[in-house]
Amino acid sequence: MIAIGIDIGGTKIALGLVDETGKVLAQTSLKTDPDKKPAQLIGEVADAVNAMLAERNVSPDEVKGIGVGAPGPLDAKHGRLDSPPNLPAWHGFGVVEELRKHFGAWPVHFQNDATAATLAEKWLGAAREAENFIFITVSTGIGAGIYMHGRLITGASGNAGDVGFITVEPGAAGTDGYWEQIASGTAIARQASETLGREVSTKEAFDLAAAGDAQMTELIELTYRRLGVGCVSLINTLDPELIVIGGGVSQIGDPLFDAIRGYVSQHALSPAGRRTAIVPAALSQNAGLIGAASLVHQAY
Ligand code: ADP
Repeated sequence: MIAIGIDIGGTKIALGLVDETGKVLAQTSLKTDPDKKPAQLIGEVADAVNAMLAERNVSPDEVKGIGVGAPGPLDAKHGRLDSPPNLPAWHGFGVVEELRKHFGAWPVHFQNDATAATLAEKWLGAAREAENFIFITVSTGIGAGIYMHGRLITGASGNAGDVGFITVEPGAAGTDGYWEQIASGTAIARQASETLGREVSTKEAFDLAAAGDAQMTELIELTYRRLGVGCVSLINTLDPELIVIGGGVSQIGDPLFDAIRGYVSQHALSPAGRRTAIVPAALSQNAGLIGAASLVHQAY
């Protein structure tokens, strides 16, 4: 059986056909053109899906369903995007209803993109053996998904895991101190630029720190500490056996993971919490697409 995966993002919509083993059989993407109405873009998505199905001679009864990952806040119960900051034209748009107009025969699963990525890490990635884990993406923002007692925790409206908006340090860096305001890729670049008085990218801030720049070393160490603080709050709240970290910033690798592990080993409350395994995400390529497809192939 085949899943149709659709990952709606601020810059592109990735879509494809994914089989039961997680293999991507076909994929393409469309630009999330802000000048186009969401219904028009979903029409283009439907055309692209139909073309992929025809090209591969997939018959309708081979399709198990459609999985959609979308940025929050959303209303998973009613299949609507709510108010994702990067998609103003989509606020309140009923994606599931629109897809049903094109594909009435198949069930449509609709979840927050980080929640979908969490299920993908359980299915094929770094959390295959875990029954209780948290997936965190440190990217443009910070998002997460929660998997506990062998199930995804989606919450009442599908917005569980919006950890980028837990307050970690009120007033830090002239912000309200939400986690993503002070520890995301965007936050690192903003603070580095303010400190050095010129435009500095996230990657450059890390590179300068690695080359011994004192101000950037201080910023990166502070960022690691803030990432650790957020992880400790999540560990103390949810008692996971594992934290999986993905997203662009996690590509820094060992220094980031070692620093977070070090902070957690000292500051989590319980002995088990202090020993929480903290590992890199295994799925980076096509993570959004495979996440969307996992909503179809995996029970949650
Ligand atoms: P998105 O938020 O669109 O899902 P990413 O997960 O790629 O995208 O995250 C983008 C953020 O990650 C940006 O702030 C970018 O500067 C940062 N980033 C990307 N690659 C690296 C890298 N190799 N090292 C450090 N930061 C990176």
